[in-house]
Amino acid sequence: DSVIEVEDLYYTYRDGTRALAGLSFSLPRGCRVALMGPNGAGKSTLLMHLNGIYLPQRGKVRVMGQEVNARTAREIKSRVGLVFQDPDDQVFSSTVEEDVAFGPVNMGLPPAEVKRRVDEALAAVQMEEYRDRPPYHLSYGQKKRVAIAGVLAMGPEIIVLDEPMAYLDPQGKDTLLEILDRLHRRGTTILVATHDVDMAASWADLVVIIKDGRTLAQGDPSLLVRED
Ligand code: ADP
Ligand code: ADP
Repeated sequence: DSVIEVEDLYYTYRDGTRALAGLSFSLPRGCRVALMGPNGAGKSTLLMHLNGIYLPQRGKVRVMGQEVNARTAREIKSRVGLVFQDPDDQVFSSTVEEDVAFGPVNMGLPPAEVKRRVDEALAAVQMEEYRDRPPYHLSYGQKKRVAIAGVLAMGPEIIVLDEPMAYLDPQGKDTLLEILDRLHRRGTTILVATHDVDMAASWADLVVIIKDGRTLAQGDPSLLVRED
């Protein structure tokens, strides 16, 4: 059964730019998905729909059977964790701990449960020893891990990352791949928007290629050989 279904999705920005133009695809539960396509293809716009930041203007997005709309958007945000490309768009509290706690506190969870989740999320990204530090002073890769921890602390079934490897050094990339592996083994569905053909080919179970706001191809990573 599908964990995410996008059906004939359209989205036009206020200035008239049509970013999505009849996009459709569906993702099986627990898979590792690479979302690919040239700049301007509509990847970021799509990601914003998957966790209810943008609502469909036409067409549908369903997350585990639940339709994303104004009424469900809040719940969807805790089911689908979105990690932005730039951690500075996402990490803003005065300590790492506070930052990771932001989502679960906002969900109205009791303090003991918030603490349990923060501890677990910081351990998952190997950032426990930084919990009292201001994120401001961390390296780019460390900030990225804090952003991921903040998303994990919400307990999402699906995690979506926009260009997660960008600007990371080789060690940072390895650490991130280990984090994604652990999430995958736990059964989390992971969608990564990336330009990195090598990563997509070696890591993904499923590749979705979009262009001009539509699905160009969807299939196993061998289809990349023909594409690029
Ligand atoms: P990608 O992430 O694949 O590069 P985007 O979703 O960012 O694609 O962009 C899709 C199209 O929408 C592009 O033509 C882009 O210029 C346009 N676009 C993106 N964000 C905005 C915005 N805030 N206002 C107007 N147009 C936008
Ligand atoms: P990416 O391809 O990595 O998503 P973009 O360059 O498409 O990055 O977009 C970077 C930021 O600029 C995004 O927040 C996007 O919404 C915004 N943006 C992109 N194109 C436009 C546009 N034509 N008008 C206004 N904002 C845009």
